[in-house]
Amino acid sequence: MHIINVHTRDRIDFIDITSKISELVKDVKEGIAFVFVKHTTCAIFVNENEPGLLDDLKNVLAELVPENKDYKHNVVDANATAHLRSILLKPFCIIPIKSGKLCLGTWQKVFLAELDGPRNRKVIVFIVGK
Ligand code: ZN
Repeated sequence: MHIINVHTRDRIDFIDITSKISELVKDVKEGIAFVFVKHTTCAIFVNENEPGLLDDLKNVLAELVPENKDYKHNVVDANATAHLRSILLKPFCIIPIKSGKLCLGTWQKVFLAELDGPRNRKVIVFIVGK
């Protein structure tokens, strides 16, 4: 099992971690990489690294989970929107590996979605295969 440390830069931030995962699978002939983030206010997703799209995602998350609502969790630590946005995404992805490379489509990249940053985050990469 490997751990990737990611320092996020903003309250909401999408960090492309594809190259860090690729480094870990160089010697794997065939298998899968299970990528999991160990936090309740983060998520993992696979999509295109295009700035306009990432801005669109920020806007969609803000529309689905608006800031100015009376969330019960805000009594605890004032970050209900981050938890709820995280639940709408998911904390993991699974990527096939072939001949030491991630089997991703041309435009597919793996992202850590920071939803309550900036913070230091840990992403687990568990590789199954040889
Ligand atoms: Zn919280």
